[in-house]
Amino acid sequence: MTKEQRDRLENLTANDVRVPDYAVLTFAVCTDPHKGCGWGGWLMEGAFEVSPNKSGVLANGDHAMPSVNNQICPTCKATLFRTDSAQVFDFAGDAAIRMKPIAR
Ligand SMILES: [Zn+2]
Repeated sequence: MTKEQRDRLENLTANDVRVPDYAVLTFAVCTDPHKGCGWGGWLMEGAFEVSPNKSGVLANGDHAMPSVNNQICPTCKATLFRTDSAQVFDFAGDAAIRMKPIAR
Protein backbone atom coordinates (compact mmCIF):
# COMPACT_ATOMS: atom_id res chain seq x y z
CA MET A 1 0.00 0.00 0.00
CA THR A 2 1.39 3.39 -0.98
CA LYS A 3 1.46 6.41 1.35
CA GLU A 4 -1.16 8.10 -0.89
CA GLN A 5 -3.48 5.09 -0.62
CA ARG A 6 -2.99 4.93 3.15
CA ASP A 7 -3.62 8.68 3.53
CA ARG A 8 -6.77 8.47 1.41
CA LEU A 9 -8.16 5.58 3.49
CA GLU A 10 -7.22 7.08 6.85
CA ASN A 11 -8.89 10.38 5.97
CA LEU A 12 -12.26 8.97 4.90
CA THR A 13 -15.26 10.70 6.46
CA ALA A 14 -18.89 9.62 6.83
CA ASN A 15 -19.57 11.40 3.52
CA ASP A 16 -17.22 8.99 1.73
CA VAL A 17 -18.68 5.69 2.97
CA ARG A 18 -22.08 4.02 3.20
CA VAL A 19 -23.38 4.62 6.74
CA PRO A 20 -25.54 1.83 8.21
CA ASP A 21 -29.19 2.48 9.03
CA TYR A 22 -28.85 0.38 12.14
CA ALA A 23 -26.49 -1.95 13.99
CA VAL A 24 -27.13 -4.91 16.24
CA LEU A 25 -25.05 -5.46 19.40
CA THR A 26 -25.15 -8.54 21.60
CA PHE A 27 -23.80 -8.91 25.12
CA ALA A 28 -21.16 -11.65 24.92
CA VAL A 29 -19.26 -13.47 27.64
CA CYS A 30 -15.98 -15.41 27.65
CA THR A 31 -16.89 -18.82 29.03
CA ASP A 32 -14.71 -21.11 26.92
CA PRO A 33 -14.33 -24.31 29.02
CA HIS A 34 -10.55 -24.46 28.44
CA LYS A 35 -9.36 -20.86 28.67
CA GLY A 36 -12.40 -18.67 29.31
CA CYS A 37 -11.51 -15.60 31.39
CA GLY A 38 -14.97 -14.33 32.32
CA TRP A 39 -14.82 -11.17 30.19
CA GLY A 40 -18.20 -9.67 29.29
CA GLY A 41 -19.05 -6.88 26.89
CA TRP A 42 -20.91 -5.75 23.81
CA LEU A 43 -20.16 -7.54 20.56
CA MET A 44 -21.14 -6.18 17.16
CA GLU A 45 -23.43 -8.64 15.38
CA GLY A 46 -23.51 -6.49 12.29
CA ALA A 47 -24.28 -3.21 10.57
CA PHE A 48 -27.26 -3.12 8.22
CA GLU A 49 -28.71 -1.04 5.43
CA VAL A 50 -32.41 -0.84 4.60
CA SER A 51 -33.06 -0.84 0.84
CA PRO A 52 -36.07 -1.35 -1.40
CA ASN A 53 -33.93 -3.95 -3.21
CA LYS A 54 -34.30 -6.85 -0.80
CA SER A 55 -31.11 -8.86 -0.39
CA GLY A 56 -32.49 -12.27 0.42
CA VAL A 57 -29.58 -12.68 2.85
CA LEU A 58 -31.54 -11.67 5.96
CA ALA A 59 -35.11 -12.73 6.72
CA ASN A 60 -36.22 -9.06 6.62
CA GLY A 61 -34.46 -8.42 3.29
CA ASP A 62 -32.03 -5.82 4.69
CA HIS A 63 -28.43 -5.69 3.53
CA ALA A 64 -25.58 -6.70 5.83
CA MET A 65 -22.67 -4.24 5.48
CA PRO A 66 -18.96 -4.93 5.98
CA SER A 67 -18.19 -4.78 9.70
CA VAL A 68 -15.90 -6.29 12.32
CA ASN A 69 -17.90 -8.93 14.11
CA ASN A 70 -15.33 -11.47 15.21
CA GLN A 71 -16.56 -13.42 18.21
CA ILE A 72 -13.14 -13.38 19.86
CA CYS A 73 -12.42 -12.37 23.46
CA PRO A 74 -10.32 -9.16 23.48
CA THR A 75 -8.49 -10.37 26.60
CA CYS A 76 -7.66 -14.06 26.06
CA LYS A 77 -8.69 -14.65 22.39
CA ALA A 78 -11.11 -17.51 23.21
CA THR A 79 -14.38 -17.77 21.27
CA LEU A 80 -17.11 -15.70 22.95
CA PHE A 81 -20.59 -16.92 23.89
CA ARG A 82 -23.37 -14.65 22.62
CA THR A 83 -26.16 -14.22 25.20
CA ASP A 84 -29.85 -13.61 24.38
CA SER A 85 -29.40 -9.85 24.83
CA ALA A 86 -29.27 -8.62 21.20
CA GLN A 87 -30.20 -4.95 20.89
CA VAL A 88 -30.86 -2.86 17.77
CA PHE A 89 -29.37 0.63 17.63
CA ASP A 90 -30.87 2.90 15.00
CA PHE A 91 -28.86 5.53 13.15
CA ALA A 92 -28.78 8.74 15.15
CA GLY A 93 -26.04 10.66 13.37
CA ASP A 94 -22.38 11.40 13.85
CA ALA A 95 -20.89 9.74 16.95
CA ALA A 96 -19.36 13.11 17.88
CA ILE A 97 -22.86 14.18 18.95
CA ARG A 98 -22.67 11.68 21.81
CA MET A 99 -18.90 11.80 22.36
CA LYS A 100 -18.62 15.49 23.34
CA PRO A 101 -17.23 16.11 26.82
CA ILE A 102 -19.87 17.12 29.35
CA ALA A 103 -19.89 20.88 29.93
CA ARG A 104 -19.24 21.63 33.61
ZN1 LIG B 1 -11.49 -14.32 27.55
